Amino acid sequence: MHELAVAESLLRIVQDESKKHGLLRVNQVRLRIGQLSTVVPRALSFSFEVISQGTLAEGAHLAMEVVPLIGHCQDCDADFQIDNYLFLCPQCGGALVTLVSGKELEIVDIEGE
Ligand SMILES: [Zn+2]
Repeated sequence: MHELAVAESLLRIVQDESKKHGLLRVNQVRLRIGQLSTVVPRALSFSFEVISQGTLAEGAHLAMEVVPLIGHCQDCDADFQIDNYLFLCPQCGGALVTLVSGKELEIVDIEGE
């Protein structure tokens, strides 16, 4: 299960950051998840809930913002949202598309006390 591995590294980061900032417990972790990152938010929430038991992040809410897939056309310089994994420029039909966003999995901030 892919999400379990993600949850484990997430918990490690949350613990490190909390220590750095002197937090005794974590209430919420905000995340940005790209559409291409293949993480299922609900599965990640569940995994995190299970493995964070007994840690300072127990009961913390994962607030996840899904980042849409944005492509950039190298032919006409247009930026556009990619739907249905169709990597074609809607403006000129070009196929030289680079990915601007959509692969990220990052922590935006950690709230606690
Ligand atoms: Zn184009």
